[in-house]
Parts: sequence; structure tokens; C-alpha cells
Amino acid sequence: MQKSALIPTIEQQVVRDLVVGEYLPAWCASRARSLDPSNFKIPDWSCFLTPSVARWFLAAIDEGVVEVTSEGDLTLGGTTPDGIFETKGFKSETPRRMGIRPESFLEVAAVGMLAVRYNWPLERLRFQSPGWAFDLLAYADDEWSEVTIAGEAKLKQRDADALSASLKICSERGDHEIGDCDQTRNHHKKYEGLLKFRPDILWIVGPEAFAGVDPDLVFRVQVGKGGVSRLRRVEASKLRYEALTARTASPGVRAAAGSNKARRFTMKRRSSQVGTET
Ligand SMILES: [Zn+2]
Repeated sequence: MQKSALIPTIEQQVVRDLVVGEYLPAWCASRARSLDPSNFKIPDWSCFLTPSVARWFLAAIDEGVVEVTSEGDLTLGGTTPDGIFETKGFKSETPRRMGIRPESFLEVAAVGMLAVRYNWPLERLRFQSPGWAFDLLAYADDEWSEVTIAGEAKLKQRDADALSASLKICSERGDHEIGDCDQTRNHHKKYEGLLKFRPDILWIVGPEAFAGVDPDLVFRVQVGKGGVSRLRRVEASKLRYEALTARTASPGVRAAAGSNKARRFTMKRRSSQVGTET
């Protein structure tokens, strides 16, 4: 590995500093937790916080897509990812060990990308689906009754690819029970999630989703009779809010989408500040 690859980008460093210097002390100090930040295990950041994940994580924070509470939790319209921090071991252990939950960084980065690049109004984006099948949902309506995008984050690209392959197998098979499926239980449950929520689009978010111009694992979902669904790979522009909701969007929602554009200025300003420090 080239030496330069080990030097974090400014954005990676900013995220590390925010997480350890601001979010962690607040998270530990909350009354419900009362933990000592010195027992935090510094993670191997290079395993999950790639330059592009850091960039989109920061975009989500800077744009106000995701808010950081006074207790160090990250929220989106009252929903939270599984938590960027987690305690480890038994509750009775003292001191209580704690560390990072890396997948949450991808989940935050993904909603940041949906809002900032693909123009989704924040009020239609949510972390976690009811029943926990998916990590994030984008809704077609303000009542959150119709799912347009179901998103699932995978820390490793090979796991994202494996989930894609499993879902294709389950989908081509059509209606079948979990006990009669040769894919992993976890993967089959995502297939059941597709049947339950019937999203237009499935987005499997691996680290490469942030690395290039296009998120790579974007699928059109077609659910038919007898539980049969089909997955067809489509280009990333299909994630765009206007592309998916053009028929149904109310003027109010279009205005909400426009307000995202106004917030973009904040990120540009942050980026230019960052740039001057290099
Ligand atoms: Zn299956």
C-alpha cells in the first residue's frame, strides 16, 4: 500500500474529530448511559471510513439531513440509525467497553446522498423500516404509506454483492418460505421485506456506492402475483426524487425539495473552509 493512502483526507479527519471529540462525550454523558469515554476503543477507521463515506457522512451532518442530539445520537425525523456507538460485552461489566458501529456511518452517508445529490425532501426519508427489514426508506407520500426506495447498508462490498445475488435467486424463485430457502436467513428476510414494502427501487449500499459517480447496486423491483418479484439493475439516476415521484409530487413537496438546494450552500462553505486548511 502506498504511504499516501494511509494519510486521512481532511474530511476523514473532521469526521474522526467530531465523533471522538464531540459525539462520544455527549453520548457517554447522557443520563441513561453514564459511561466513561476513556473506555472507548478507537476503531480502525480505515476499515469503514473511506474518503467518500466520510465526505457523504459530513454532507448529511452539514446539510442538516441528520441532526446530532445533545445526547450524541444521530436522528432523522425522530428515527435513528442503530447508533454510531455501541456498548460491548455484558451489562454487568465494569468498566463498560464500547466502540463504533461502522454500518451506521454508511447509513448516514446514504441518506445524505439521497437528500443532497438526489434531492429527496427530508420528511420523506427515514432510518429503519418497521420490522427492521431495511436500514432506510424513502417514502412516496407524506403519510409514509408507500415506500419508493428501500435501502440496506453493507459494510463490505462483497457482502453487498452477496445480498444482491441472494435476492435475485429468491426473486426468480418466487413465492417460498424461509424454511425452504437455501439462501441465508438474513438475506431471505430482505426478500420478504421486498414483498412487504414493495419499493420501486432497492438500493444496496456498499462502500463502493460512495466511491464513484454512480451508486452501483440500484435495482428496480417488480412485485407480481404469488409473491414473485423481479430485480432489474438500473442506473443510479433512478434514485432521483423527481424521477420516482414526478406523477404524485404535490407543490408543497416540490418546495420542500427546493429547500434542500438552499441548504447545499452550507456544505459548499464547509468544503471551501476545509480546502483552505490543506
Ligand atoms: Zn428465499
